[in-house]
Amino acid sequence: MYRYETHCHTKEVSLCAKIPAKEVVRFYKKQGYTGLFITDHFKCGGDHCLQDKSWETYIYTSCQGYARAKEAGDQMGVDVFFGWEYTHASYIGADFLTFGLDQDWLLSHPEILHMPIRDYLTTVRNAGGLAIHAHPFREQGYIEMIRLLPRHVDGVESPNANRTPFENQTAAEYAEKYGLFLFAGTDNHRGKDQTRFCGIDTEQKVQSEAHFVHLLKQGKFQRFDIQR
Ligand SMILES: [Zn+2]
Ligand SMILES: [Zn+2]
Repeated sequence: MYRYETHCHTKEVSLCAKIPAKEVVRFYKKQGYTGLFITDHFKCGGDHCLQDKSWETYIYTSCQGYARAKEAGDQMGVDVFFGWEYTHASYIGADFLTFGLDQDWLLSHPEILHMPIRDYLTTVRNAGGLAIHAHPFREQGYIEMIRLLPRHVDGVESPNANRTPFENQTAAEYAEKYGLFLFAGTDNHRGKDQTRFCGIDTEQKVQSEAHFVHLLKQGKFQRFDIQR
């Protein structure tokens, strides 16, 4: 079995994260993982998200955590893959992990900046990407309400290592009801200070982001949930 972290943030891009990309990679290397997906936050929903940057600069800065992690991974022998955690600025708390598309795809699709969530999900899935609703039943002060888009995602994250048993269980029931597959991730913002880890094991070594999407769609994976 090959072990992967599927939901991980870097300090370079995600303001809420505390660990730089290189340390994240070193940490997972020590834990014996084959690889990890860097899924930094990526906010869309209007020009203000750019903070006066061009789209190109916005993509470049949004991918810096991945770029540094990839460089470190190449040196340390850890497979680092790209993904992102999409959020619409008007619907904070509804987060969608997106896999299978690369930075060039983002660069050539600036229209996603202005898209409603459903259009975004349709667009990335039509392009061959995979959309996972991350921690759909998360409850937190800043989240106005729980929002579900069962007809517009491929899978649902459950368990997420940073959510409660109730939130994870409810997410699993939701997924089952709608025939969505279950996905697991740590949502690691803390690197080695994290004690519980969730993720994906595969029998085949993941060759690329597209290969990962293929394995997920075929159900060729197992979720894991461990305490360190
Ligand atoms: Zn975060
Ligand atoms: Zn996250």
